[in-house]
Amino acid sequence: MTLPGNRTSRRMALAHVVVLCVALLAPAIQAIALTCSAPISSSSVKSLCALCLRGEQTSGKHLPQRHREHGGNAENFKLGHFPQTQSAAAQTNEYLFNDSHFHLTNYIQEGVDIHEFLKTMGNKAGRVALFGIPLQQQWSYRVDADRAPAYYLNSDAPLYYYSFTDAWIATVFKSLSKEEQGRFDPMITGFNPSDMYAADHIRRVLQAFPGVFSGIGEFSIHKEFVSAKISGEVASLQDPALDRLLDFAAEVGLVVLIHNDIDTPFAREGSPPAYYEQIKALFKRHPKATFIWAHIGVGRIIRPVKEQGALLEQLLKDPAFNHVCFDISWNEVAKYLVATPESTKTVADFINRYPDRFLFGTDEVAPPDQEAYLRVYNQYAPLWKLLDKETSEKVRKGNYERIFDGARLKVRAWERVNLTRR
Ligand SMILES: [Zn+2]
Ligand SMILES: [Zn+2]
Repeated sequence: MTLPGNRTSRRMALAHVVVLCVALLAPAIQAIALTCSAPISSSSVKSLCALCLRGEQTSGKHLPQRHREHGGNAENFKLGHFPQTQSAAAQTNEYLFNDSHFHLTNYIQEGVDIHEFLKTMGNKAGRVALFGIPLQQQWSYRVDADRAPAYYLNSDAPLYYYSFTDAWIATVFKSLSKEEQGRFDPMITGFNPSDMYAADHIRRVLQAFPGVFSGIGEFSIHKEFVSAKISGEVASLQDPALDRLLDFAAEVGLVVLIHNDIDTPFAREGSPPAYYEQIKALFKRHPKATFIWAHIGVGRIIRPVKEQGALLEQLLKDPAFNHVCFDISWNEVAKYLVATPESTKTVADFINRYPDRFLFGTDEVAPPDQEAYLRVYNQYAPLWKLLDKETSEKVRKGNYERIFDGARLKVRAWERVNLTRR
């Protein structure tokens, strides 16, 4: 679109674009509201460019050149900015997947340079939900002497919440060009979910780094080998502090990526999974939050409980849990899901029945190269073969775009209304 030269007609043209933008967004808003996400209000949509989703208004500032910097092109500008979802889909169609679960740094806050990681993503990963790790493994000289531990299983010394991870992720994100930033959805993780002040930390991060974050997580409540060695009180699904931070996440529109094992390690044969009812109650208490339950509640030794399919189906069938999706990330999870041709077929049949509710993620931690980064994707090769074409497309890419595009819109709109920009 060539904008007319004089100011009045330019204003009229832009007003036209805004109207068109909102009209075109209506079906997308409905689609977003369908699953895993609470609906967005039309007032929050009006004030944003749906393509860029960077908190810029559809104002006179938002000229085609700016739009192009955000990854738009003349064609979708003509369409009235709308096709964030469509254009993102078009842009990512050539990719194998979007990654809903990725740690740039490890348990001692070391990681890969984000510019190097972009090269690792190459033409394989389109977009990535980006976060560090909220926990730091302490190097206790009393315990480990010169043997500096790099992983939580390497030491008996405790883990502690490391809030600076959020500033680190925001800073590396901001070092990217606008176009490169469009490939990431940074997440806030550096809070203690047993602290009533956790919600205030999240607000402070949004205040300090507006225009950056799309969600919170991955954070853990019950995680084998980890929960018990965190300094301070152990987290709980029944903690009012967790309710407070989830209320806040829902208000802002932040995606919630939660790790919570469905059961304890070495559970007694035949006993009901320890945390299923509690997490179900948590989801029910927060119908306006957008949840991704990481790893479907499975862990390194938390193998899928026998009746997991039936339990999962309870959530998938009940409209009260439409705001809950599941990621199938982590090589430790893939090892169970594609363990045998039979298990792969069971999982594929299940996902084919609920194509909008599952997301692929790698759960890689600071992978040194592309081969390492793609290992979980490749591990799932037998599953990809058994999914319907459309389901496979959704699990690998479409569901990510629906959920994170919706979050970008909502969070940017909330920031514009609630934060004083510097
Ligand atoms: Zn996890
Ligand atoms: Zn993870």
